[in-house]
Amino acid sequence: MEETVPTITKTTCPYCGVGCGILATVGADGTLAVRGDPDHPANFGRLCSKGSALAETVDLEGRLLFPEIDGRRAGWDEALDRVAETFSRTIAEHGPDSVAFYVSGQLLNEDYYVVNKLMKGFIGTANIDTNSRLCMASSVAGHRRAFGSDTVPGSYRDLELADLVVLVGSNLAWCHPVLYQRLAAAKAERPEMKVIVVDPRRTMTADIADQHLAIAPDGDVALFNGLLAHLAEAGELDENYIAEHTTGFAEALAAAWRLDMDGIAAETGLDRASIAEFYRLFAATEKVVTVYSQGVNQSSVGTDKVSAIINCHLATGRIGRPGMGPFSVTGQPNAMGGREVGGLANMLAAHMDIDNAADRERMQRFWRAPVITSAPGLKAVDMFRAVADGRIKALWIMATNPVDSMPDGDMVETAIRACPFVVVSDVVGETDTVRHAHVKLPAAAWGEKDGTVTNSERRMSRQRPFLPRPGEAKPDWWIVTEVARRMGFAEAFPYASPAEIFAEHAALSAFENHGTRDFDIGAHAGIDAAGFDALAPFQWPARAGETPADDIRFFAEGGFFTPDRKARLVPVTTTAPARTSEGFPLVLNTGRVRDQWHTMTRTGKSQRLSQHLAEPFVEIHPTDAATYGIADADLVRVTSARGAIVVRALLTSRQREGSIFVPMHWTDQFAADGRVDRLVPPIIDSTSGQPALKHVAVRIARFTAAAYGFAVLTGKPKRIAADYWAIARCEGGWRVELAFANAVADWPAVADAILPGVPDADTLSFQDAVAARRRFARFVGERLIGALYLAAEPVAVPRDWAVEQLSQAHADQRARLAVLAGRPGKGGEDKGAIVCSCFGVGVRQIAGAVVAGCHTVEAVGDALLAGTNCGSCRAEIRSIIHAHRLQAAE
Ligand code: SF4
Repeated sequence: MEETVPTITKTTCPYCGVGCGILATVGADGTLAVRGDPDHPANFGRLCSKGSALAETVDLEGRLLFPEIDGRRAGWDEALDRVAETFSRTIAEHGPDSVAFYVSGQLLNEDYYVVNKLMKGFIGTANIDTNSRLCMASSVAGHRRAFGSDTVPGSYRDLELADLVVLVGSNLAWCHPVLYQRLAAAKAERPEMKVIVVDPRRTMTADIADQHLAIAPDGDVALFNGLLAHLAEAGELDENYIAEHTTGFAEALAAAWRLDMDGIAAETGLDRASIAEFYRLFAATEKVVTVYSQGVNQSSVGTDKVSAIINCHLATGRIGRPGMGPFSVTGQPNAMGGREVGGLANMLAAHMDIDNAADRERMQRFWRAPVITSAPGLKAVDMFRAVADGRIKALWIMATNPVDSMPDGDMVETAIRACPFVVVSDVVGETDTVRHAHVKLPAAAWGEKDGTVTNSERRMSRQRPFLPRPGEAKPDWWIVTEVARRMGFAEAFPYASPAEIFAEHAALSAFENHGTRDFDIGAHAGIDAAGFDALAPFQWPARAGETPADDIRFFAEGGFFTPDRKARLVPVTTTAPARTSEGFPLVLNTGRVRDQWHTMTRTGKSQRLSQHLAEPFVEIHPTDAATYGIADADLVRVTSARGAIVVRALLTSRQREGSIFVPMHWTDQFAADGRVDRLVPPIIDSTSGQPALKHVAVRIARFTAAAYGFAVLTGKPKRIAADYWAIARCEGGWRVELAFANAVADWPAVADAILPGVPDADTLSFQDAVAARRRFARFVGERLIGALYLAAEPVAVPRDWAVEQLSQAHADQRARLAVLAGRPGKGGEDKGAIVCSCFGVGVRQIAGAVVAGCHTVEAVGDALLAGTNCGSCRAEIRSIIHAHRLQAAE
């Protein structure tokens, strides 16, 4: 028999801005396997837990497969006509500023390019913004005012070449895990390399740090201003670089002198000795890279934080040389690409400037556009305000979920619900945003899409399709092109493939450029379908006629993109105002967890990824927890001036006293009340428009429940009538946490609502009236289809053991009664919370290995395999070893 050779496709991970290369193998039986591409310069074969689990997320459950209009299935022609007609009519009646597009860093460059072209060059407004506004808008603004362009000067390689890496507001270990692994490996090879983490939380990233500065929220401007002043005092400036390549140094230094050491200590919350040690190390080390991410960007003073960091690198000339420079890492897979195509409301395509008349004229001429936007449009927060007050009458949301990610989430949801016309193109049929769409357009997903993305080091890579598009799903670029044609712009949107769009994007980047703009990929302007197919990852600039290079850096010899080609040091003095008060005494910080991505529409499908943290939670310092009478694993109500949520308490001294942390991922699809965005007020950075998602005044209180529950189910529960619930995938089905505020009179009715209703099922139940415990276990034949445990106190059933029961046979009554009892029998093991998602290894197992003598991550890996695949859990294993050895020493 002839053997079918599996197809291997080189593509790119769709999650974070590291942009790892992936080899996707579709077997003869249609099964998918993914592994890291050893040849990709971003990851050299590595993948993190999320990338490794991609194969588990491509099933069609929950996919939007057909266009819908007002809740009924429609054909593509009807849906596209409806979108085009409604947008055209709204523009005719109310002008171009009455419509808006809210797009996404998940789009590919080609999707992004055409949607921006349609809005800015043909509709004639800049009311297009992207969820990247929530991610790196402050970095863009900081780059542009310092360099005259949105340029990331260095490459990932610089993190390995540096002698000091300062990580500011970046939990690299969880948010950019492969970049973290590269850094950790470099440090292991050269232990003399120093790593400093500046973060209010002692995140897993801090576990490789030589120094952790638990800075007060938004204390960064004071810290880096103080550093600039110290560098001047210590005579560690590069006077030649300052004189030849910069302006504004004197003003920046004068601003930096605003605080003395006591003032810096007061604003940063750090002790003087720690600050002095950081300054000493920075001053003494030439090869310094300062990596920053959302902790810097998501702030009302984010742009000034970026300037304060860049000022230090410009003043020391530590920029654009191997192992040196400021380095912004982006959250999303294609946030960088969005910046290149002009996906933000205040930019034009190809890094041209919306406020520059010559750029606008050039843009219009290149596109042969009837109009060109004359001014910046509405940035994300203002856009949804305009939707709320009726200025925006038609809104198209692409590949993003603003109800769950925007600040003031309830207001955003109300605004979308009230908007006269909402189109959502997405891959998922039911999200907290999609549910309000008048027209739903099914988009192609990762594995089906064809185009390019750009990562945080300016490297463009191909995303290639290897799965058939299901149902009637279509690529985003095709959807936008079809709408543009129906709006009367067919001539300007002739595209038949993403290769044609990429070629135009490349030609635009080189159009009348002559080295005056940083973004230039003119070398690919003439690319054809075959060339696009074969396109290997490359870094920009890739100018026509120049030899392709790798690890391209900017600005070692100046050459900034300002009119005088000099960088600007920007004087910054701003501090974020204190937001806490008697009523809201704590600072809420929001962010990501290791194994989930955004609003879990993809990672939430993986049982492996859902094991790590299966519920929305709040990290609280034990001292604060004691103040508010909260114990570990209690339920906690977190309340801000905008709203309240209920999440699980996780007590940890990694958290700074006075601050708490809640992850951003949980939505109404996964929890009763876990949407942290509803707590966040719409406070923005006045320069970048980026919301301050990490500094919210809140209070906390124990959520008192009359009863608690835990269930494992083979099917997703349809209706959960509980005051608190959270669901997560598990092997064989779903696991559910529950709590009821008031006593429940009819427990069997609750059980019937939650347990799968299957004819001929056999239900066992147990009641202990004195202890107020109820248990139900439902079987079909030997198979457990659901078990529900209820008690007046938090249910003590080992979660991983209960999950395993879904996959095991329960032939005899004894086995069934053991399930009902909720207790592992002899030999049953409670692994504890899962740490290693790849091999399902729990915290208790790792602790056991440490007690048995495994005192290194490698030894734990040898004993349990934990940490030996993707490596994303290695920092947590290191911290468990550390904690147990400390305990043993006490
Ligand atoms: S670090 Fe992980 S999530 Fe980010 S691109 Fe690489 S594999 Fe994907």
